[in-house]
Order: sequence, then structure tokens, then C-alpha cells
Amino acid sequence: MNQEVYDVVIIGGGPAGLTAGLYTSRAKLRSLLVERMIMGGQVMTTTKVENYPGFPGGIDGPDLMTRFQEHCQEFGLEVETGEVQNLLERGKEKIVVIDGREVRTRAVIITTGAEPRKLGVPGEEKFTGRGVSYCATCDGAFFREVPVAIVGGGDTAVEEALFLTRFASKVYLIHRRGELRATKILQDRLFANEKIEVLWNSSVERVEGDTSGMTAAVVRDTVSEERRSLELHGLFVAIGVTPKAQFLADILQLDPDGHILTDAECRTSMPGVFAAGDVRKKILKQIATAVGDGAVAAIMAEKYLMEE
Ligand code: NAP
Repeated sequence: MNQEVYDVVIIGGGPAGLTAGLYTSRAKLRSLLVERMIMGGQVMTTTKVENYPGFPGGIDGPDLMTRFQEHCQEFGLEVETGEVQNLLERGKEKIVVIDGREVRTRAVIITTGAEPRKLGVPGEEKFTGRGVSYCATCDGAFFREVPVAIVGGGDTAVEEALFLTRFASKVYLIHRRGELRATKILQDRLFANEKIEVLWNSSVERVEGDTSGMTAAVVRDTVSEERRSLELHGLFVAIGVTPKAQFLADILQLDPDGHILTDAECRTSMPGVFAAGDVRKKILKQIATAVGDGAVAAIMAEKYLMEE
């Protein structure tokens, strides 16, 4: 075999990608994992992971991801930092374009994950990094003894609201509906916390501030249509995520929200190309399901290579 050709290139270094890399390198397939920024994906911004089996009492997200990486290194997974810009087919080979350089491979596993969705309101972009944040775990400690708010009603918003009570004087949870999407156990903790006030049926219309950063958000009650200005130093946005697959829109079939469409075995619309984790259309997005996907995609890639 031509030594310049990889068996598998894995794009993305979160739980799905690292699991796929563990399986392919352990199967002695020549594997390369390409990560754009830091390894570990969205879990790196999670304080405590309580629902990944094997860790009673929970484990910090970055610690868990360090273990994933160390485990891959045991089997010699090659890792590279770079941004994948394109994926092409050339005969039976795939070409992965990394920062303008062409890398040849026989199979590809896409595990690019997802990134935080934006509110899209005036002032959001202007005050990003100066009050507006998409990661309470990363930025929460900057907001000591000041009022902050979090937008969203899912697990992330509730977990982050609870986390922010360690620092902030008051935490508003602003949710567009009259009930939360988050799991019951998290809701119970939220309602029991006296520092948190839930603003139901409410949406942020505008972020305001001055040269020092954000100072307030204008919030609309969607039932009464009343508007109020909340004094806030921080606004955390946790309204879900957008899959990072737009760079593949002309190559693979995506759903209207931009997820890669696959079958149950993680096969995409292009033979030899698999997708795993949050970038793929599926019901449950958890570390446990990303790990499951990574394993399935790796085994299917191995099967594809054997049958080729
Ligand atoms: P999510 O479950 O999709 O929730 C997004 C929340 O944001 C929803 O409450 C939604 O409101 C709201 N929202 C969406 N677009 C909005 C907009 N434009 N303006 C205002 N609000 C908006 O996202 P997530 O909380 O990030 O969770 C993603 C996945 O990760 C889920 O499967 C979740 O279970 C999982 N997760 C699990 C854990 C855990 O198990 N410990 C922790 C974090 C995340 P509606 O409810 O009205 O749609």
C-alpha cells in the first residue's frame, strides 16, 4: 500500500472523534485525527459530567477528555492541528483538504460536532466578550457579585444557571416558553436555588452597554408584550447548537438544520464517508451517544475498507 495514503482520516477531536480514533488505531488502520482548535470538543466547557458511566460522583469535562486522549495515544493515533476546508473524491480515494494541503485517505469519519447558536439580537455581537458569552464554565468566574442572566430552557441553560450562582449576586434564567425542556433532576435543583429567578415567556430583544461592557438587556414578556430593562453585567446564551457541517453542504446530504444525514450505521450519502456525534442527525446528543457513534463509525469504516 502507498504509505502516503491513510486508511482513515477523522475530522474533529471530541468524544465521537477520539472514540473513532481509538477503535481505528487499535484495529491497526493507519489513522489521522485532525482537530481545528483544542481536543475534547464541547465537553471541555462542561464543569462536571454526572451521567457518563464509570465515574460515580461525576468527573470534570476536561479531565474526562484528557483520559480519552491518553487512551488513544496508547494505540498510536496520529493527531494534527488544522482546519479541514474541503473533502473531495478522486477515484477510490478521498482527499481531505487541511489548511490548503491535500491529504489522501481511503475512508473519512466526520465528527466536527456543533457550535453555540446565537440569539441574533442587536448588541449581541458588539458585547460578545464584554458581557455576552456562550460558555458559563469558561467565563462565569469573571462575574462576581453582579447580576447575570442565562437564556434558554434546556439542560445546558439550567446547568449553567446553577454554575453561575457560585459567582453572581443574582441569576435570571430567561426562557421563551412557560415550561423548561431540561431534565427533571436539573429543574428541581434550579427551583430550589434562591439566587435564581426564572423569567417565563420572555425573550431578549436587545443588549445594551457602554465602553465598559454590557450594562443591561431589554426583555420582552411574550404574553403581556411588556418590556423591561434588566440591569445585567453578563448575558450567557445557551439556546442549543448548530452542527458544524456547512463546509460539506455541497458534498453530503444535510437536513434543513444542517446536520449530516446518515443511516443507523453512521454511513453518509458518500460511500466511505461516515459521520458520528452531534454533527449527525439523531435524537439524543450526549457524551455516551457520541462515544457509541464513534465506535459504530469506526467499525463501519473498517468493514468498508475490507470490502473495497
Ligand atoms: P436544547 O436541549 O436544544 O435546548 C435549547 C433551549 O434553548 C430550549 O429550551 C429552547 O427553547 C431554547 N431556544 C432555542 N432557540 C432559541 C431562541 N432563538 N431564542 C430563545 N430560546 C431558544 O439545547 P442544550 O440545552 O444545549 O442541550 C443540547 C443537548 O445536549 C440535549 O440533548 C441535552 O439533553 C444535552 N445535554 C445534556 C446534559 C446532561 O445530560 N447533563 C447537559 C447539557 C446538555 P424551547 O424549549 O422553547 O425549544
